[in-house]
Amino acid sequence: MSRPLPDVLPVRWPADATSPPPETVAALERAASILAGGGLVAIPTETVYGLAAVATDADAVERIFAAKGRPATNPLIVHVAHPEMARGLAAAWPEAADRLTATLWPGPLTVVVPRSPRIPDAVTAGGGTVAVRCPSHPLTRLLIEMAGEPLAAPSANRSLSVSPTTAAHVLEGLGNRIDLILDAGPCVHGIESTVVDCTTDPPLVLRPGPITQARLTEALGMPVAAPSAIAHAGPARAPGQLPRHYAPRTPLELSDTASERVGSLLAEGRRVGWLTVAADAPATRSLAASRDVVVVPMPADPAAYAAMLYAALHALDKRDLSTIVVDTPPDTDGWRAVRDRLSRAATA
Ligand code: AMP
Ligand code: MG
Repeated sequence: MSRPLPDVLPVRWPADATSPPPETVAALERAASILAGGGLVAIPTETVYGLAAVATDADAVERIFAAKGRPATNPLIVHVAHPEMARGLAAAWPEAADRLTATLWPGPLTVVVPRSPRIPDAVTAGGGTVAVRCPSHPLTRLLIEMAGEPLAAPSANRSLSVSPTTAAHVLEGLGNRIDLILDAGPCVHGIESTVVDCTTDPPLVLRPGPITQARLTEALGMPVAAPSAIAHAGPARAPGQLPRHYAPRTPLELSDTASERVGSLLAEGRRVGWLTVAADAPATRSLAASRDVVVVPMPADPAAYAAMLYAALHALDKRDLSTIVVDTPPDTDGWRAVRDRLSRAATA
């Protein structure tokens, strides 16, 4: 492939401004025209960077699968500017979708609903449902408005690798396979959306994410089925459920006794990366003195941890390490999404 690298255009929307600055509007106009022509644009969202194409354009959607090397059996999430746009893509709008989206949209929640014929087969992997999300990032929604169509957008990375949380990650991972990158800085949540199947009763969490079980239960007024209960529901239902996913190239291990594990790897002459919430502990400090360990201090709050997780993995992947060791996160609702991503990254 001898295509040039895509332009990376900075976009921003200061909180105190009623509209984005003119350069940002110009960048979004260019992105919208590439999308209208069937092209691929990497877009910022509040979760991770997405690789967008017009969702109703089957050829453009095929290009997403080709650029990512994604199996055709993995359906895509369709992003909308507002809830009415989502209803236009659904054959029916279940009560559960209504309740969840009334309080949690715009935001990092994807709902799976019966699909309208407007959606090409490639988007849904031939299935009878479609996954839709209304992002809270104002620039994502403005771009969708300008494109005038919903945008299919999986994470902007090669299939099975770590999702991008910066424009630089996208450029490294997809480079000349795509037409343009919009750069709005690091993503706020840093992990993929919570996905809830609203076609079952009770609704099922297909993928844990920034919206916790507790918040789903509150919005719904009743409990949702826990992700662990459906962990083996099958790949066509939720591609994020593939056992190995979100993985760095460097082998990754979760450990309940990470300082001991790091110590023994160092004793074997290995070079080790270590994500730890206990960077200040005496055991960590003494191990950190070795030249062969890269200690990455991680926040003790799960949302803050998630926000920097993928950037930490992308950075460690460049350090020529033999192993990345990660302290096993607590088994609680707040940590569920982080545990999910790390345990998939650790599946060899
Ligand atoms: P990503 O590649 O990171 O964008 O992940 C796509 C996610 O979309 C998967 O993990 C699924 O959970 C979800 N998804 C998309 N379409 C569907 C669908 N029709 N049914 C269930 N899940 C879906
Ligand atoms: Mg992905």
